[in-house]
Amino acid sequence: MPTASKTIREAYVEASSFLGKLGVAEAASCVELLLQHLLGCSRTELLFRFQEQFPAELEGAWRQLVERKAAGEPVQYVIGEQDFYGLTFAVSPAVLIPRPETELLVEALLHEGSRLFPQGAPLLADVGTGSGIIPVTVAHARPDWRVAASDISAAALEMARSNAQRHGVAARVEWLEGDLLEPYIERRIAPDILVSNPPYIPDGELPALMPEVRLFEPHTALFGGVEGLDLYRRMVGQLPLLPRIPTVVGFEVGIGQAEAVAAMLRAAADWEEIRFVPDLQGIDRHVIAIRAREL
Ligand code: GLN
Repeated sequence: MPTASKTIREAYVEASSFLGKLGVAEAASCVELLLQHLLGCSRTELLFRFQEQFPAELEGAWRQLVERKAAGEPVQYVIGEQDFYGLTFAVSPAVLIPRPETELLVEALLHEGSRLFPQGAPLLADVGTGSGIIPVTVAHARPDWRVAASDISAAALEMARSNAQRHGVAARVEWLEGDLLEPYIERRIAPDILVSNPPYIPDGELPALMPEVRLFEPHTALFGGVEGLDLYRRMVGQLPLLPRIPTVVGFEVGIGQAEAVAAMLRAAADWEEIRFVPDLQGIDRHVIAIRAREL
C-alpha cells in the first residue's frame, strides 16, 4: 500500500508500481485518472503539479481509491466517470461502462440522419440506453433532432437522465422504461432512426471474461443468450409492430455477429443498403440498415 508520500509524483510512482505488481492492466494510466479525480484537476494540471507536496489530508481518501483499484474494480466505477464523444458521463455499477467503439456508431448515425433528413428533424430512439451516452451525445450534436431513450432498468434510466441534465439536454429526450421496443410499440412512437447497443456476449463466455468486466459490470447489460443474439432477434421481430419500420436501424454487435444480425434484418424488411462499420481493430462492430427512400 502507498505510504505517506512526499510529492504527488512519488505518490504516482508508488501507486503505479503497487498496482502494476498486482497485474492491474494499464496501471499507470489508471493512477493518473485516480489522481486527477482525487485532486480535481485535468491531466495537464496534474503533470504541472507533480513536484508539489502530496496533500496530507487526502492520504486516507487516496488509500481507499488505490485499494478499490487493487481489488479489481474498473477505474471508471472508482472515479464514477467516463468520457464519451467529448462529453463526461457519470457511471456506476448500474450501467455498462461506455466503450470507445460506440462513438463510431453515434458518428455513423449522425451522418446518416443528416443525409437522409436534410430538412425534417428525425426522431432517434436508443434502446437499452444504459448511461445515456447515445441520446445525450446525439441531442448535444444535433439540437434540432428529437430523441427518445429506453431501458428495462430504472436505475440505468435514472443515471441516463442525470447525465442528460449534466449536459443540458434532459428536457429534449423522452425517457421510457421498458423491455426493448415494447415502450415504443405501446405508445405508438415511430422512430426514424432506431439504435441499440444491446447485451451481446454469449452466456457461455462468462468464465472467459476479464474479472473487471465479469465481477463488476451489470450482467443484464452484457449477456445475450447462448449465441449472444437473443436481443437482436427479439428487437428485429418487434420491428413490424412499430407504427412504421424505421428508416435507419443501427446496432452494435459482438465479434462475428454482423452477418447473422444482417440476415435477421434482411428477413424482416426491405432495405436499400445494409453495411458494416469496422471498429479500430478492424472487427465489424456495427450493422447499419437503411430503408429504400420513399418517393
Ligand atoms: N447504450 C449503452 C452503451 O452503449 C449501454 C449498452 C448496454 O448496456 N449494453 O454503452
